[in-house]
Amino acid sequence: MTYRKALVTGGAGFIGSHVADRLLQQGFHVAVVDNLSTGKRENVSQSAAFYNVDIRSRKLAGVFRLERPEVVFHLAAQASVPGSIARPVEDARNNVLGSLNLLEQCKRYKVERFIYSSTGGALYGDPQQLPCAETHPIRPVSPYGASKFAAEVYVGCYATLGGFRYVILRYGNVYGPRQDPLGEAGVIAIFARQMLEGEQVVIYGDGNQERDFVYVGDVVEANMRALEQADSDVYNIGTGSGTSVNSIASKLIELTGYLKKPDHGPVREGDVSKIYLDVRKAKQDLDWTPRVSLDQGLSNTVAHVKAMKPGSAQAI
Ligand code: NAD
Repeated sequence: MTYRKALVTGGAGFIGSHVADRLLQQGFHVAVVDNLSTGKRENVSQSAAFYNVDIRSRKLAGVFRLERPEVVFHLAAQASVPGSIARPVEDARNNVLGSLNLLEQCKRYKVERFIYSSTGGALYGDPQQLPCAETHPIRPVSPYGASKFAAEVYVGCYATLGGFRYVILRYGNVYGPRQDPLGEAGVIAIFARQMLEGEQVVIYGDGNQERDFVYVGDVVEANMRALEQADSDVYNIGTGSGTSVNSIASKLIELTGYLKKPDHGPVREGDVSKIYLDVRKAKQDLDWTPRVSLDQGLSNTVAHVKAMKPGSAQAI
């Protein structure tokens, strides 16, 4: 099946803007819906139709009426774990009620395919076994993990009600160009900026916590593969192995020439100690595999943070 019209929610954000760019490259007509709460207008290509609309708003129906998308990539979210602990109701309004309002429009306007960006890092809690497969019990330890999973359940429900197919992608820790180095999430972009500016870097806890760091270009590719997938299903998207935050800091120290020694602070509430994802299912069904090595990805990210001036946006 060939699709031509896509709508990307959160398309002014870090991952969503790269998904939108790739769709444009592939000849799609792309509509971006974003309230610019953390996203930036300059991340959105001039070739995309841009709607400064909140996914919770009634105005969303107007966007669907005008655009009539065949496929929807849903990335708009309150995407910060600490943000969800500080403001859990706001987190649920965005991630649960916003997703529900979006799914209502998908049903009403007969969308054919829905691709939802979920989290593999915040759903499973402290995993019983590693790498952690999609079948692992769901036990989020942050409101963010709970709200992202609640939306997954609604996606399944609306796929039945609306007669569309869906793919849920559960990402590890995504990093790469355009991740906000001044944001609350994204340790690699944050450390890279702090090191380049000679600021004091603070690692939460002892730094031995492990995460599955996956490059944004590989995540975009997973979204494209999901478009071709015949059946509705859920997939972990990561590298299959864990890297400690200390190891990330050491690699970034080398790349940036940072002269200070990172400090250690308290463990962050809502964080698990070790998580990395079993990605064999995505390899098998989507023929997807991560291609960008951590060293290459880190070097691209540092180059991007170095080149960042207000208003500049760099592609992957
Ligand atoms: P981001 O903050 O850069 O992107 C989110 C975008 O959504 C922003 O542009 C923001 O302005 C927009 N947005 C937020 N609330 C909105 C609302 N109510 N209405 C309209 N737009 C709204 O974050 P990101 O890292 O690019 O994350 C994209 C998606 O991927 C999110 O759904 C997130 O939960 C998921 N995810 C990200 C990671 C990661 O490591 N970055 C990991 C797992 C899952």
